[in-house]
Amino acid sequence: MVGVRVRPLSAAESARGAVDCLSVTEGNKVFARDPDEKMGGRDYLRLQQFNDHAYQFDAAFGPESGSSEVYARLVRRVVTAVIDGYNGACFAYGATGSGKTHTMLGQPQACNSRREEEAVEELMAAALRDDDFDYKFGVSYVEIYNEKVKDLLNPDSQADLEVREDAKHGTHIQGAVELAVGSAAEIMEHMQRGSVYRTTEATNCNEVSSRSHAVLQVTVKAVQRYGEGGGSKRRLAKMSLIDLAGSERAYKTDNRGQRLVEGRNINRSLLSLANCINALADRTRKGAHVPYRDSKLTRLLKDSLSGTSVAAMLCAVSPSSDQYEETLNTLKRQDVPR
Ligand code: ADP
Ligand code: MG
Repeated sequence: MVGVRVRPLSAAESARGAVDCLSVTEGNKVFARDPDEKMGGRDYLRLQQFNDHAYQFDAAFGPESGSSEVYARLVRRVVTAVIDGYNGACFAYGATGSGKTHTMLGQPQACNSRREEEAVEELMAAALRDDDFDYKFGVSYVEIYNEKVKDLLNPDSQADLEVREDAKHGTHIQGAVELAVGSAAEIMEHMQRGSVYRTTEATNCNEVSSRSHAVLQVTVKAVQRYGEGGGSKRRLAKMSLIDLAGSERAYKTDNRGQRLVEGRNINRSLLSLANCINALADRTRKGAHVPYRDSKLTRLLKDSLSGTSVAAMLCAVSPSSDQYEETLNTLKRQDVPR
């Protein structure tokens, strides 16, 4: 399931003369008005005649939609699947400044609007209601930067951990810390502490962590309490919440040196994520090769993308006319197929 969220035009964008060039309409469509067309005003009725400016999603959220609505329509089904014992993953995709982190984390001050918190809270509440199973929760939090995996919960560890796969744990980061947790608040604490160690951009400190993928994974172990051969029935599921690197690096090639290397790596991992999702979604090609091995991100998420796993993708966009090109790239989802 792929959703789109259009954030409000920011004060800074208005201040530099940019205008709102997107509208969300019924049927989960987004209409984009090319700022160069100079049609004057928000002539959305006329816009709807331009088919190539309309983009269809499974769920579309306008600037007036709160994060709770995003949660209810996009994220909840992933959480429900994890409670039932399947792996689930939620991705936030989009250019830097489009609202990915806002959607995943909420604003630092507004503690009650965090999507991750809502997701982990609901997960744990459901576990508490279940009398048939005993639950144990673990949390891990890693960053993939330049195809290197760093453990954000153990920042002193080596900065290039390996992705491994075995029957017991599925795909996982070898050597990454998995902390036992008993509440959603504990998970959020670990996450906030870990986020401090995310790689930041030396040249522009405001654009924190736009070049790395942050992967928070909550593992849920359930053991049956009663019944025949008590304790014999076990379930292991993972919920992954992924704040992807800024998608603008996926096609901008005018960077040099270190920035160019970063750009290529981001490009490669976003593209391989798209390729994997494509190959999986194409049911007519059952058994077709899915290129998980092409990037660290897809190798790590292999068991959260395949088989009975449930995934949701949220594409974040700015409505600003001066971000039109970035926005169109996200809306077209050349890198993120349905
Ligand atoms: P990204 O993580 O994609 O780079 P951010 O989530 O940091 O972007 O968002 C950029 C700015 O826009 C932040 O100041 C954020 O608070 C604001 N913002 C993003 N989405 C919304 C929204 N839906 N409502 C209000 N403000 C938002
Ligand atoms: Mg961000």
